[in-house]
Amino acid sequence: MSVKNVEMVLAPRAPHYVGDGFRVHNFIPSGYGLTMQRMDPFIFLDYASKFHFPPSPFKPKGVGVHPHRGFETVTIAYNGSVAHHDSGGGGGVIQQGDVQWMTAASGVLHKEYHSEEFSKTGGYFQMVQLWVNLPAKDKMSTPKYQAIQNASIPKVPVEGGFIEVIAGEYNSQKGAASTFSPVNMLNAKLEKGGEATIQFPSHYNTCVLVIEGEVIINGTEDVPLDHFALMANEGVSFTIKATEKSIVLILSGEPLNEPIASHGPFVMNTREQIMEAFQDYELGKFGILED
Ligand code: MN
Repeated sequence: MSVKNVEMVLAPRAPHYVGDGFRVHNFIPSGYGLTMQRMDPFIFLDYASKFHFPPSPFKPKGVGVHPHRGFETVTIAYNGSVAHHDSGGGGGVIQQGDVQWMTAASGVLHKEYHSEEFSKTGGYFQMVQLWVNLPAKDKMSTPKYQAIQNASIPKVPVEGGFIEVIAGEYNSQKGAASTFSPVNMLNAKLEKGGEATIQFPSHYNTCVLVIEGEVIINGTEDVPLDHFALMANEGVSFTIKATEKSIVLILSGEPLNEPIASHGPFVMNTREQIMEAFQDYELGKFGILED
């Protein structure tokens, strides 16, 4: 089985705040050649590394009402809990270990906050927000919302740990989320010394983010905490070994290979469609959501 090598390892960039609740390091799209096209269909990745927030009982911290069109937002909670509401009627709170998968598609308004419960006590907060691009034919489909609790995420045992299959598949085990194109989203949860072998088609865009601990990929590439490894578009198989108790997010997807026109919260295929998104937003076609 040919080896999929590490193309580069990126350290987290200086954090910035999204609203007042999400202290994030942006990895996609960023410098170092990591464009939306390079990681297609994963067009955006913000990582909130583990950070302690004091209590904020009177006003939960977060991001107010804003629109999205043309893709899906996926939030994975590693510490703390996030509340979400959207104009499509989707909403709820995700706790540590849960995943929120919102298909914005033709357009929603939403807001994202630390949950009320978390805001009362404060505590450690850590999460990933990803944007998964939609195929052109699905960009204007009906919005939907998948609340995926940790208990419903299949877990496949590996040496010294297990793989959570959020989407796609691992060793023939299918994931919990439904997707519009081939997307694999896995959490490897490994004890010290635990090891997993991962295989994806060579042309799938693939990356690894170390959420907890530290790992070695293919026996040679050290990937420390909060670092991101971009895997090469060659070879199919790689190994991840934990040098201490670790959690690793693994993403791999078939590139859509369609034109990307992106502006702020809208990701479409042409500039005309972006203009149309702004017009529709101003005309109130994204629905109504109270601040
Ligand atoms: Mn959003």
